[in-house]
Amino acid sequence: MFCNQCEQTAHGSGCVLSPGICGKDEDVQSVQEMLLYGLKGMAAYAHHARRLGKSDETVSAFIEEALFATMTNVNFDVESLLEMCLECGRQNMRVMELLDQGHIDHFGEPSPATIREGTVDGQGILMTGHDLMDLWNLLKQCEGTDLKVYTHGEMLPAHMYPKLREHPNLEGHYGGAWQMQKREFAAFPGPTVATTNCVLIPPDEYADRLFTTRCTAVPKGQQILDDDFSAVIAKAQQCPPVQASEIKQSTTGFHHDVVLCLADTIVQAIKDGKISHFFVIGGCDGAEPGRNYFSEYAEATPADSFILTLGCGKYRIWNHDYGQLHGLPRLLDMGQCNNAYSAIKVAIALSEVFDCSVNDLPLTLVVSWFEQKAVAVLLTLLALGVKGVTIGPNPPGFVTPNVFKVLQDKFDLRLTGKDPQRDLELALA
Ligand code: SF4
Ligand code: SF4
Repeated sequence: MFCNQCEQTAHGSGCVLSPGICGKDEDVQSVQEMLLYGLKGMAAYAHHARRLGKSDETVSAFIEEALFATMTNVNFDVESLLEMCLECGRQNMRVMELLDQGHIDHFGEPSPATIREGTVDGQGILMTGHDLMDLWNLLKQCEGTDLKVYTHGEMLPAHMYPKLREHPNLEGHYGGAWQMQKREFAAFPGPTVATTNCVLIPPDEYADRLFTTRCTAVPKGQQILDDDFSAVIAKAQQCPPVQASEIKQSTTGFHHDVVLCLADTIVQAIKDGKISHFFVIGGCDGAEPGRNYFSEYAEATPADSFILTLGCGKYRIWNHDYGQLHGLPRLLDMGQCNNAYSAIKVAIALSEVFDCSVNDLPLTLVVSWFEQKAVAVLLTLLALGVKGVTIGPNPPGFVTPNVFKVLQDKFDLRLTGKDPQRDLELALA
């Protein structure tokens, strides 16, 4: 364990032996960290929701109480801290609901959209991250110019909202997951605006073209604190034009409202044995080779199953033709990582139709995790009683073997194995 949060910390540098000086052991420390990381993830979503005019005092009160529970000499009880982790999951469900409603209120009802991936000739601006309000503000301020705005990374699902999609300055999408930034931002000749995580510290090659918003900031980048993108627009007008590159077409926008409009057809197809399974494969992406697990898993799914995806983990399984099923693409992109809410809504709706629990549905969740929003989403799934979720490619370092055993016993939480094909067969069995 490692804890250095109070004055009595061992040798003035950190309690690394369990228990620490106060008596807190590594399992208490582990659950407190799980709570802290879940709170961080939820706070990011709550911040986005607040910018859209959505907040809930109950959520704010819970954040205060849960942070309090991680202070020195407040809580040494694993069980009550685990319950707080589950409450964090419940509160995160509420926050994702607020964020979803905020997006719909501001940008319209989502619908499937064909996206042009690539670039066209002309000066352009790239925007990455998750904050759709930033994208809207940038588009408004670009009106009357020839500047072409491209989404990058987690901004791709912006195209499912009509108000954003129909804006004349929104050109299309360029680039993949966050770990590709250094190559993709360097190759894009115009400025890039990073609105949230995951932004990487820029090399000198493009640091003077990298802008960030609010709490997002990097050395040598320019931080915008007031929604005024005039410096970005001026920079774009000084930069050389973007050259046209090959354009491919992709589809996004399978929000839960879209999928649930098709509920009758889907339910009948399940009853007739024409849809065998639903997989949720998504979450975060990262650079480790172990993440190929998710692409191999997705490619091995049967032709009569659907894959629901979300987050930048989609890019791991994006460039493969899965074909169609019942007139829909087999790979249905539900949106950003916060649109895990959509996958949960679909699962709950199906369980209600079939009068069974989510765990009795032909549904398997394979979650690629990286940072703390993924922790918040995992806690939401556990709080809803969803069992058998597989996470990977690596186990969370903050979860001790004892705590992992509790999660396995209570929730059948699983880790990705070495053989995705074998794990898939087990899921289907
Ligand atoms: S809270 Fe406990 S474990 Fe942490 S530094 Fe203080 S004495 Fe050590
Ligand atoms: S899905 Fe996760 S890893 Fe990907 S950009 Fe969003 S927060 Fe970062």
